[in-house]
Amino acid sequence: MTFLNIWIFFLGAVTASFLNATLYRLEEGYKYPKIIKQSSHCENCGKILTWWELIPIIGYLLIKGKCPKCGQRVDLYYPLSELVLGTTFVLFFIYTIPWYLWIVAIFLFILSYFDIKEQAVYKDLVHAFLATTLLFYFLFAFDIANLILPAIFVVMIIVLNLIKKSFGFGDLLVLLGLGILISWQQFLVMFWLGIMIALLYSLMLLASKKISLKGAKVPMIPFFSIAFVIAILYGEEIYSYLLNFMKIW
Ligand SMILES: [Zn+2]
Repeated sequence: MTFLNIWIFFLGAVTASFLNATLYRLEEGYKYPKIIKQSSHCENCGKILTWWELIPIIGYLLIKGKCPKCGQRVDLYYPLSELVLGTTFVLFFIYTIPWYLWIVAIFLFILSYFDIKEQAVYKDLVHAFLATTLLFYFLFAFDIANLILPAIFVVMIIVLNLIKKSFGFGDLLVLLGLGILISWQQFLVMFWLGIMIALLYSLMLLASKKISLKGAKVPMIPFFSIAFVIAILYGEEIYSYLLNFMKIW
């Protein structure tokens, strides 16, 4: 870990923290200039956060996940999302991932925010995402082979959805947008990993009895976002590893 890497990690964590605060304020209907000038405060008691409480991840640890004044729990989503985007930034930096995929990762962060907090993603936002990935595809990742698998998967999922609804239409469009930017091997790994992480998460929720099997709604976009980042970094390796693994059997 060099000093530069640590700095890039914090850049990602700060970006996450900034996006979380801005998206929250947008949703609460804050207007300019309040949206940028308002000091961050506890949503329960209104305590203004000090500068050290605002440091990503470290601030959360220092206050032990609770408001120092009223004891209101801070959602674990905040430090976790900062950790994820910070790690993504530093790995993308180390592996010299092209800049347009950084934009895609930040866009995925925003989509995930709504999927987690609202259990729904705005249609316009998904369409803007698809338009952005299409533009990037034609500019930087043009390869007909990239299109085949995403197209097959989308048709398959639509057919499966007719039998039992398990995927939202928005999730499908996001998958399609991600799929065209990566090789078909990476797409397979992303899809497999996304489902695996979602399954693990559901099992953990079940074990902690927070949900029942019926009516469980698991947000898919955050899992596919993490799977996408892993697929970009290690997709080809994971693919050949899985292939070898299957040969043994
Ligand atoms: Zn408070």
